[in-house]
Amino acid sequence: MTRPSHVLVVAGSDSSGGAGIAPDVATVSHFGAATSLAITAVTAQTHDAVTALHVMPASLVAAQMRAALSADPVAAIKIGMLATAEIVEAVADVLAAHTGIPVVLDPVIASTSGTQLLSDEGIACLHRKLLSLSLIVTPNLPELGILSGCGSALTNAEIAAQATRLLDHGPMKILVKGGHAEDPMSIDTLYSKGEPPRRFTSPRRAVAMRGTGCMLASAIAANLALGQPIETAVFHAKAFINESFDTEHRRLSN
Ligand code: PLP
Repeated sequence: MTRPSHVLVVAGSDSSGGAGIAPDVATVSHFGAATSLAITAVTAQTHDAVTALHVMPASLVAAQMRAALSADPVAAIKIGMLATAEIVEAVADVLAAHTGIPVVLDPVIASTSGTQLLSDEGIACLHRKLLSLSLIVTPNLPELGILSGCGSALTNAEIAAQATRLLDHGPMKILVKGGHAEDPMSIDTLYSKGEPPRRFTSPRRAVAMRGTGCMLASAIAANLALGQPIETAVFHAKAFINESFDTEHRRLSN
């Protein structure tokens, strides 16, 4: 019997189920892959606030990753909330020993409600150690501004310049989520070294949904684990997010 492809999700839990590992696991199983887990932090959250946060020891995060990697055929790794520089370093050390597995890095820095989910030292460490170990990084506009050290981009030319700056630090691809925020369409742009950018356009939805960043990165990782090339993985992941917005829209309209 063949064993299913696993996605190793390295992420935090959110008691509301809105973000973090709950949507990660649901997304991976939607695409028919199995999930292995390394939990980085436990958070207590309502849909409007983070009310408590407990960070796992970095050695325990690394131990979870190593156990998952030896227990099952891990075919892709999705990284979300990392909380501290110590955890970023520990994750980077494990990844450096498994460079054949594609890594999807969602550079989670803060919750929508405003709580910092990665320390300032952690941001610097992620920049130094994790970008170069990732196949694709999926920042939103504020995350792109922080990681490129340039502040929030105001024009599409500034977004492209910031993405190019990040590509110089090692990842093969950067998927910038959301495009220029005033566009009537929601445009995600995939930047690759030495290739023209590819745009993924969908109508900007009137519904707010938490956890879409987690879902998008997990959907890309699941498709990579199932053997899809990276651009096809992004295409399927975007279609899945659009379907999820439509489902949420219909639910709210009933
Ligand atoms: N909590 C956890 C554990 C997360 O991983 C994330 C994002 O990845 C968030 C909260 C932030 O989600 P939101 O922006 O929907 O609040």
